[in-house]
Amino acid sequence: MFKASLRSHLTLWFAGLSLLTLLSVGFYVGHIATAQMRQASGNALLSTAKSAAELLGAQLHERQLEVSLLSRAPLLKRGNLDDPDILTSMELRTQSRAEYAWMGVADSDGRVRQAVNNLLVNQSVQQRPWFQAGLRGDYTGDPHEAVLLAKLLPGSPDGEPLRFIDFAAPIRNNQGEVVGVLGAHAHWSWVTKIVDAAVLQKGTTPEVEALIVDNDGKVLYPEQLAGEQLPNLPTASQQSGATPGWTVGNGYLTSAVAVPTPSSTGLAWYIAVRQPLDIALQPARVLFYKLLLLGVLAAVIFGLVAYYLALYLSRPIEQLARAAKQVGEQQPNVVFPQDHPVLEIAQLVSSIEGMTQSLLGKERELQEANTSLEATVAQRTAALTQANADLLKLATHDALTGVFNRRRFDEKLAECSLLFQRTGRTFALLFIDADHFKRINDTYGHATGDDVLVQLAQLIQRNTRATDFVARFGGEEFAVLLPELEEPESPEVVAEKIRAAIAQAQFAAVGQVTVSIGVGVAELSDSNASALIKRADERLYQAKAAGRNRVFSTTQTLSAD
Ligand code: GH3
Ligand code: MG
Ligand code: MG
Repeated sequence: MFKASLRSHLTLWFAGLSLLTLLSVGFYVGHIATAQMRQASGNALLSTAKSAAELLGAQLHERQLEVSLLSRAPLLKRGNLDDPDILTSMELRTQSRAEYAWMGVADSDGRVRQAVNNLLVNQSVQQRPWFQAGLRGDYTGDPHEAVLLAKLLPGSPDGEPLRFIDFAAPIRNNQGEVVGVLGAHAHWSWVTKIVDAAVLQKGTTPEVEALIVDNDGKVLYPEQLAGEQLPNLPTASQQSGATPGWTVGNGYLTSAVAVPTPSSTGLAWYIAVRQPLDIALQPARVLFYKLLLLGVLAAVIFGLVAYYLALYLSRPIEQLARAAKQVGEQQPNVVFPQDHPVLEIAQLVSSIEGMTQSLLGKERELQEANTSLEATVAQRTAALTQANADLLKLATHDALTGVFNRRRFDEKLAECSLLFQRTGRTFALLFIDADHFKRINDTYGHATGDDVLVQLAQLIQRNTRATDFVARFGGEEFAVLLPELEEPESPEVVAEKIRAAIAQAQFAAVGQVTVSIGVGVAELSDSNASALIKRADERLYQAKAAGRNRVFSTTQTLSAD
């Protein structure tokens, strides 16, 4: 499993959470701001559209009223459409108002009788909608391209086709009969200028566009959009309702208001004021981006703070982990982290340090105990080995004199007998007994007697060969086995040499000590070893009887005397 450091964990969590929080807030606030912006912009557009519509309505109403009033003037009521005063009256009005492109009177057959600047005089306007509507009542018409006047009037400077909006009213004589129609054409540009002026006057909102739309949603103005169908135009019924008065569609925020015209005229226009949605919502988007930027900035700052916080928290833990590892690897001088202001971390550090010290102390104690135990074992083993060696020596040697003991002597004698039986190579046995030893004991004490015994053993050993076998036979009596009998050192010679050496030796406190020696030589006729012992013992007895301090053997008798 992948393991990241505490530092990375904390940093990522802090940064992620702050980013998430601020993004959520950003999106939420952005959403609200967008809705509010839309509302505010929509309301502004609605107000602009309203004032433009009202202004236009008033202007249209005024022109319509002018035409209506003129048609009911007494001059016209008289019924003489050729009256030159009518022309004068018409000229007066067209001169005072530049918007009029044409004004004239047509008789009930549709023939123009008089007109300003004599335009279209005597021509038939019977087919023109304004004439037909004018026969029935007051009329204000949709704009149209000039059909008849186009050839007669100077063209527009930008080359656009001349367009007019028509006003008409019936001319009735005093009897109330319709005798003709008073018609007027106003320049369409007059209308559009009113709308543009109203929008311009209204505000500084950028890229706001005013449109004049007919009842079916078809654009009448501006020219480049003419004929286009405007989507989502609120209908008249919606206008009165609780709707916000603006719609969103085609990338525009649009508000449309009906131009208030008298229903009798049959004109039903809307002023639509629209603004690209991008522009309308620009402030909200800017706010959103600012919040987004703020979010990222905050996430970075939070991340950094978290990183340092994590560093601050995790450093002692990392040091602790390192120290624990060093303890595990048995490295010397392990350093534990210093005191930390965070209580739990400080407690953790001190607990682990204490635990480690206690463990190390126990380990040291264990090591020391182990060492001393090893020393004790070595000591005991040595002692045991020594004891075993001593025991071994004790089993075969005499404790007082250090020469072989009686037990070992018996074994050795048996071995020699067996060897003699097999090989025929003869061997000898000397019995050496201290003379009048009882007297030494009695005179000098038992301890001095012991010292004499020790010195006797040494003298005997010194005067025999390494291959010879010296043993204490019992009491003050020694036995020597001579396995290799070689001339000239016959057993008698060896015995004599021993006897002489003892006799000449000086014994502390005692002075002179002598011994008597009996020599026996093994014979093939001997049934067992005791025969030889008996023989040597007999010789010893004989030596004693002969006066002591002498050697007796089967073959010859040597004497010190
Ligand atoms: P003899 O010349 O006839 O051999 O006379 P002796 O006195 O040596 O003979 P005896 O057998 O009468 O006496 C032997 C004495 O040796 C008796 C005993 O007290 C003594 N003796 C035996 N073993 C030891 C010993 O280990 N230490 C000491 N100090 N005396 C011992
Ligand atoms: Mg004796
Ligand atoms: Mg004796």
